[in-house]
Amino acid sequence: YKFEPVDLKDFLQRILDRWRPRFGKVNIEAQLFVQEGTPKAYADPRSLEQVFTNLISNAVDAMSKKGGHLTFQVSPKIGSLGRSEVVIAVLDDGPGIPDEIRERIFEPFVTTKPNGTGLGLAITKRIVTAHHGSIQVNSFPGGTVFEVTLQAYTGDE
Ligand code: ADP
Ligand code: MG
Repeated sequence: YKFEPVDLKDFLQRILDRWRPRFGKVNIEAQLFVQEGTPKAYADPRSLEQVFTNLISNAVDAMSKKGGHLTFQVSPKIGSLGRSEVVIAVLDDGPGIPDEIRERIFEPFVTTKPNGTGLGLAITKRIVTAHHGSIQVNSFPGGTVFEVTLQAYTGDE
């Protein structure tokens, strides 16, 4: 991992732009909101890209039947010990994660897809953990929210 300050607004906008053609094909409307005053994240851009690519590709799979909305919300947070953090919430309004796997989605090889590997979220979690961050999920029949928390870049690391 090669850590550097990452401006999440530019970074996520670029990723979303690259997915735009795919979103169009399956009728997904993607939006990015960044709260004013959100600091940069301290992260390895290549692996961080993998994190969001995995979350986006799952959301696209979940919504590809009917289309839907994919929303990124980025905001600052003060974590434990007063640490400055950045929270990236990724919301979709797909069908939600099936009950029978909800507790196990971060384990390798857990998949509901005929050609799925079940590795996406396992890798995602490993990357986030290596960043001293955390990932949480909330899912219900009307959609899914993944929340990734990362350390902010405060200029003195
Ligand atoms: P894969 O995509 O290869 O199945 P993942 O680890 O990326 O493996 O995801 C595991 C499983 O979690 C998926 O098969 C799917 O059932 C469920 N899942 C993940 N993200 C979502 C989502 N946004 N909406 C609904 N189900 C999801
Ligand atoms: Mg996946």
